[in-house]
Amino acid sequence: MISLDYKLAFIIPYRDREEHLAMFVPHYRNLFPDADIYVVHQLGKAPFNKGMLFNIGFLYVEQRADAFDLSDVDMLAVEGHVDYSFPRAATHLASAASQFGYKMPYPIYFGGHVLVTAEQMRSVNGFYNDYPGYGCEDDSFYRSFVNKGLPVDRRYGRYESLPHNRHVDHDEHLMDLFNRNWEHFKSVPRDYSNGITSCKYDIAAVHQLEGYTQLDVNI
Ligand code: UDP
Ligand code: MN
Repeated sequence: MISLDYKLAFIIPYRDREEHLAMFVPHYRNLFPDADIYVVHQLGKAPFNKGMLFNIGFLYVEQRADAFDLSDVDMLAVEGHVDYSFPRAATHLASAASQFGYKMPYPIYFGGHVLVTAEQMRSVNGFYNDYPGYGCEDDSFYRSFVNKGLPVDRRYGRYESLPHNRHVDHDEHLMDLFNRNWEHFKSVPRDYSNGITSCKYDIAAVHQLEGYTQLDVNI
């Protein structure tokens, strides 16, 4: 169990990962009994839009917590090897995940678990909404801070990744743009008008489930 001096909420973009969610919820409930867990469930068959689901979850919980862990459903924090102290800047936590051999997969990796305050999230208008598919929205998020000259932070954090098949829903456009070529990618401007403030969606249902809240959303 980890005690915190602020209110923490987990925001998890989610579709079709029942086994992972069934492990995520009890794991983080035990670790952080006072934190809240919000699962943002994308309905329908359209490409999974991870960035937009983070925006939607954030808008729902913004007033209900002090900081938010933008979480993959399949990375479980290892007690004693993560630092969830209050973030002074947008903070990458999942720097040592088992799926990447407990090290950074590439130098600017900013995914898996990222701890932000509402102010930090708002400072870049959250995530860009219109990348079809997913993958690289975390790189884009990182760029959003760097391009504005805003600080980011990274901590050592050990996570056990749950196994799954490699997805095929990647955003090929963004992959091409980025192509792990950070010097190029950071020079491509982010449209800051596209984000939390322009996010169009419909919450079809809110379910209070055992240990977490699930938002069913149409995007
Ligand atoms: N995700 C999901 N359903 C999908 C694809 C992704 O719920 O069909 C969510 C889930 O939270 C997952 C995260 O998006 O942990 C990142 O996707 P994925 O695990 O496929 O990425 P990878 O492990 O390949 O980086
Ligand atoms: Mn994964």
